[in-house]
Amino acid sequence: MMSQQLLQIAKDFGSPVYVYNAEKIEQQYKRLTKAFGKVEHLRVNYAVKALSNISILKFFNSLGSGLDTVSIQEVQLGLKAGFEPEQIIFTPNGVSLEEIENVAELGVQINIDNLSILEQFGTKHPKVPVCIRVNPHVMAGGNTNISVGHIDSKFGISIHQMPLLKRIVENTKMNINGIHMHTGSDILDIDVFLYASEILFEAARNFKDLEFIDFGSGFKVPYKEGDIETNIEELGEKLGQRFNDFCEEYGKTLTLAFEPGKFLVSEAGVFLAKVNVVKQTTSTVFAQIDSGFNHLIRPMLYGSQHEISNISNPKGRERFYSVVGYICETDTFANNRRINEINEDDILCFKNAGAYCFTMASNYNSRYRPAEVLIYNGEAHLIRKRETFDDILKNQIEIDLR
Ligand SMILES: *Cc1c(COP(=O)(O)O)cnc(C)c1O
Repeated sequence: MMSQQLLQIAKDFGSPVYVYNAEKIEQQYKRLTKAFGKVEHLRVNYAVKALSNISILKFFNSLGSGLDTVSIQEVQLGLKAGFEPEQIIFTPNGVSLEEIENVAELGVQINIDNLSILEQFGTKHPKVPVCIRVNPHVMAGGNTNISVGHIDSKFGISIHQMPLLKRIVENTKMNINGIHMHTGSDILDIDVFLYASEILFEAARNFKDLEFIDFGSGFKVPYKEGDIETNIEELGEKLGQRFNDFCEEYGKTLTLAFEPGKFLVSEAGVFLAKVNVVKQTTSTVFAQIDSGFNHLIRPMLYGSQHEISNISNPKGRERFYSVVGYICETDTFANNRRINEINEDDILCFKNAGAYCFTMASNYNSRYRPAEVLIYNGEAHLIRKRETFDDILKNQIEIDLR
């Protein structure tokens, strides 16, 4: 995205503002599908929770993507955006049987991640096809070491519980049509991913009516220089081949599914905020922006390092700054960062702001959540208005107190 256009957007729509580039989303989507070109039936289900604006969902629909959802509200958003129920998979964790039943009734593929709900659901609805989420207990230890761990993870049905899982399926006569894993950020490199996939194939051999195997996500994108990025092309080559071999052994051409969020939208988004104050203390130069963890919480929540540039003064000499917010709380976006000289009213641009940024925003300090803009075919479209004071008051009930 060009700085000039971004500055214009900050001017036209105000700050702070999230800006997404449809072209980059499409590029990532096509990169993934191309990497798995050898797989006959590939299905990419975009993980809605990364960025759930309805216009973004509509764009994914136009690309031919499906959706991965974690709440019935995300399912409803997807349906409203024009997706068919069959294009949506519901992969919640720890939700009620009732919510799962309500989603199944809509015709959405459900994915169950614990034995208690599996048994209850299978007993009541043996005819509804169900995918099961398995925990392969694999995580990366260092760069190439593979260690077996995460025994305490709350996600998925432990691979070690396979005997009980099989018994439940046999007793209820339910139909298991998919098998799934999502090891999240544990997976850093391809060897670990392939290792976990073998465990999933092993589990898949226990079920004879599968239609798909879902490998979840966990793809890495670079946030700062030197960060690891998943080599999707290599993964596609290796896992694609292995998957085709498995299908041959299984005796059926299954669908290979993925559900990336970050990989598809992280780099497509930036966050623009204005510098309110440049404040020098005895030890530090602070740049204080018109935002805080109410708008972008990842740096404080996960320690993630979003690259920050001063698009108002890209040629200015570089100096060291701590970029902080205006929330009455420690809200440090970056410590001691080298940035082109910052003046008050400059616009700072945060990279990798497409995934888990707006969706985690709140009204803390009774501030408005930012606007969202989508650049589509080169033009900037407002896809979410900045909130107003009415939004702050909405749903609040003022009672009469003496
Ligand atoms: C969040 C989530 C994803 C997406 O993960 P990314 O790291 O954003 O790719 C995929 N599957 C499930 C089940 C999830 O909860």
